[in-house]
Amino acid sequence: IVVVESLVKRFGAFTALNDVNLRVGIGEKIVLCGPSGSGKSTLIRCINHIEKHDGGRIIVDGVELSNRLADINSVRSETGMVFQSFNLFPHLTVAENCMLAPMKVRGISQAEARDRALGLLRKVRIQDQADKYPAQLSGGQQQRVAIARALCMQPKIMLFDEPTSALDPEMVKEVLDTMVELARDGMTMVCVTHEMGFAREVADRVVFMDRGSIVEEADPETFFRAPRTERAKGFLNQII
Ligand code: ATP
Ligand code: MG
Repeated sequence: IVVVESLVKRFGAFTALNDVNLRVGIGEKIVLCGPSGSGKSTLIRCINHIEKHDGGRIIVDGVELSNRLADINSVRSETGMVFQSFNLFPHLTVAENCMLAPMKVRGISQAEARDRALGLLRKVRIQDQADKYPAQLSGGQQQRVAIARALCMQPKIMLFDEPTSALDPEMVKEVLDTMVELARDGMTMVCVTHEMGFAREVADRVVFMDRGSIVEEADPETFFRAPRTERAKGFLNQII
């Protein structure tokens, strides 16, 4: 469902992504890891077209992301994105946060949007908070709202960028549990995370990046037990 070919992304003279190739099949779960500055966020931001790439090709659900703006919004509405910072709208309630995009972009009615929002808030076990404001929720709850909000657009793929790294330790599990459940439901997922337990449990493939390139790609068991490159070994030694 995602094809990345010979992707190049530069920021001025600095090359953040250099010849990156990645394929994600329908229902596949990819964990992206690697040292700080290796280009993980840049890669998923390119897939979601928050960043424009400078070379190579990105195809999402059969549509090539080029500079033709027409297609980009439709592609973006098929990809749900969850960030480290939850990015909820502070002046809207939890339910309203979830209802906004489906009403504006998909054109569904307010009643239908609310039904859908409440259903997905139930799924992430937070339906009783629907009429509160984000600031009244814990970090873990806010992140689960962010996941529910993305799911309300009925995306074909979910992109996560370190969704648990801003959370207090006791809240990490509730967010990871939500992600595991989503994986079990068959969602296609690309997750930047250093949560190796999560990677072992759900990832079909672990993709290791360093200095703007994919250095290693393997099933989690192989990657953690027997990384092939020195760079991956060094990285694993640091995080475990
Ligand atoms: P981290 O684990 O710290 O989140 P990362 O792997 O997500 O790191 P990126 O955020 O993708 O790394 O950044 C890759 C490189 O690109 C870094 O060297 C960063 O400084 C640079 N970079 C990212 N965004 C920009 C930008 N908007 N302008 C200039 N340089 C940028
Ligand atoms: Mg990052």
